[in-house]
Amino acid sequence: MPVYVVLVGPPGAGKGTQAQAISAKLGLPHISSGDIFRENLKLQTELGQQAAAYMNRGELVPDDLTIAMIQERLSRPDCAPGALLDGFPRTPAQAEALNEMLGKFNGSVNAVPYINVPEAVLVERLTGRWTCRAAGHVYHEKFNPPQALGVCDVDGSELYQREDDKAETVTRRIRVYLEQTAPLIAYYQAAGVLMEVDGTQPIEQVTVDLLAAIAKATE
Ligand code: ADP
Ligand code: ADP
Repeated sequence: MPVYVVLVGPPGAGKGTQAQAISAKLGLPHISSGDIFRENLKLQTELGQQAAAYMNRGELVPDDLTIAMIQERLSRPDCAPGALLDGFPRTPAQAEALNEMLGKFNGSVNAVPYINVPEAVLVERLTGRWTCRAAGHVYHEKFNPPQALGVCDVDGSELYQREDDKAETVTRRIRVYLEQTAPLIAYYQAAGVLMEVDGTQPIEQVTVDLLAAIAKATE
């Protein structure tokens, strides 16, 4: 049966960083809804253009667009073993839609690591984040700097600061998270799949804790 792991946590918790570290170890493709939207924007697709207005304001892209996009992505052959989801679901309606789609693949949400980071830490993390143009690899100017300034260690592409990582938009995104996404914590707790990980630890320690929690949930 396929295995589905859903990373939850506020913007800046370290979901993307951790997904990049554990995806190969779990043998699951890393599916980031934000990365897919940004890729669509780069390619100037209709979806990308529709999503951009919401993203730049720090608001959520409407559920119908987001759900259709993820459904298409999860149907591709590389998701046969399952997927490591980063940034989806972000609303209760998306979580319900995910359950329904996974049922069609004879699977379900197996583990939901919640990377817990207090709000006060998030702003500094996001305003110091640098992202790679080619593949979305993430760095932090203080906490996880690249070897060469402005260049991705993994693929040599240029690093840039996301438009929505400006302080003002970050504040909005955190508020949107608290209102619309945080209810998923209780939702997945009730389903018996939630596991909390302390996201304030060094990146490597968070990875160790995450892998242990996921192994326990999927054994
Ligand atoms: P998310 O995908 O949850 O928004 P990211 O993985 O992009 O979060 O991380 C946000 C920023 O914080 C990035 O600049 C990243 O380098 C940095 N970061 C991630 N994990 C940690 C950590 N454990 N300690 C310090 N900084 C971190
Ligand atoms: P972060 O890693 O900092 O949390 P993401 O890259 O996941 O940011 O998301 C960036 C933006 O993309 C969000 O602010 C939102 O506008 C849009 N987005 C990403 N995932 C979703 C989703 N599941 N539902 C609605 N909007 C989304």
